[in-house]
Amino acid sequence: MIDYALILSKNGISKTKFRINLINLFYSSNKSFSVDEILDYYSNSINKVTIYRALKDFEKKDLIHRVPDKNFIKKYAISKNKTCNSNYSNHSHFVCYSCNETFCLDYLKNPNFSSLKGFKVKKLNITLEGYCAKCTELS
Ligand SMILES: [Zn+2]
Ligand SMILES: [Zn+2]
Repeated sequence: MIDYALILSKNGISKTKFRINLINLFYSSNKSFSVDEILDYYSNSINKVTIYRALKDFEKKDLIHRVPDKNFIKKYAISKNKTCNSNYSNHSHFVCYSCNETFCLDYLKNPNFSSLKGFKVKKLNITLEGYCAKCTELS
C-alpha cells in the first residue's frame, strides 16, 4: 500500500486531509483531471482555490504534470517513474476525440533534443490524437 501522507511530507507539501485524498485519487484512478472534474468528484464540497493551490504544489514537486487537452483545459495526471527522470516532457500523450480523456503513454519516450546546438529545450510536447481502446470498442 502506498503511504500518500508520506509522499506529501517527503516533498515538503502540507498534509491536509484533502491533499492526501487528492494524491490518492491521482495515483489510483490512472486518469487525468481538470479542476472542474475534481470539483465534481468531491461534489463541490471543496473550495476551488484549495484545489488550485494543491495542484500547484503537486506540480511544483513533479508529483503531477500538465497534460494536453482537446479543449485546452488545464488537466493534470500523475507523474510516474519520478525517480528515473524529473523532466516530464519525456513521454508522449494521447487525446481521445470521443471521451476527451488524455492518456500518458509512459512507454513512448520522446526523442532527446538536449544536444541541439544553440537551443536550450525546456519543453517538448508530443500529442497523439484519435480514439482510445474503450471508444474504439464502442464504435
Ligand atoms: Zn476514448
Ligand atoms: Zn503524462
